[in-house]
Amino acid sequence: MTPSSHPPDVLLTASAAGTLDLGWHIAVATHVHGCAQCRAWIRMTESVGGALLENSPPAVMSREALRMVEARFGEAVAAPYACERPGPQTGLLADIPGLPGFVRSYPAGPWRWVAPGIHLLPIYPSAAEEARVFLLKARAGLKLLPHTHTGTEMTCVLTGSFSHDGGQFSPADFDLGDASVDHTISIDGTTDCVCLVAMSGKLRLKGFIGRLMQNFVSI
Ligand SMILES: [Zn+2]
Repeated sequence: MTPSSHPPDVLLTASAAGTLDLGWHIAVATHVHGCAQCRAWIRMTESVGGALLENSPPAVMSREALRMVEARFGEAVAAPYACERPGPQTGLLADIPGLPGFVRSYPAGPWRWVAPGIHLLPIYPSAAEEARVFLLKARAGLKLLPHTHTGTEMTCVLTGSFSHDGGQFSPADFDLGDASVDHTISIDGTTDCVCLVAMSGKLRLKGFIGRLMQNFVSI
């Protein structure tokens, strides 16, 4: 199925240029993995960038540049961020459909209960600083409580589908939300919906029930 919702061009460009925080990059790359249209757009952007580089005048490097690089060869490499966290395992993402290869190698998990019908599996990339990354699995037919965010949320559907007032989102579709977006989400069909989510800030549940549930939901 061809995705119908794509990241904005500015995100695709930053992801291809390697200037996005790793957490955001993982969400964009997961969409691009399943979207021929965005892969073609990135290839075109990279070829334009390559042509610009080829036509740029050569830059003169400092005489000290090589010596400074060589001096760092013996430095200790910092332990990966993931090793400081208890519980995650490698290999848990190997069988999750729709993930790019580089994401499958990250430590992750275990799955934990978030709310009735909703489970979350944290992913621990080596260098994500702004965004937390996780898989969210929601039971088919579920209607989630109305919520908004205090930061940014990027969601890429892996299996199943969900709907909100912005449309229906199926495998490889990309949904971008921020504090201005008010979500009431329904999980469609008869298949559980699994999404990769990158999120900064906190999720805020709305309404009386939502405020009661907020104490028990930690996303
Ligand atoms: Zn796309």
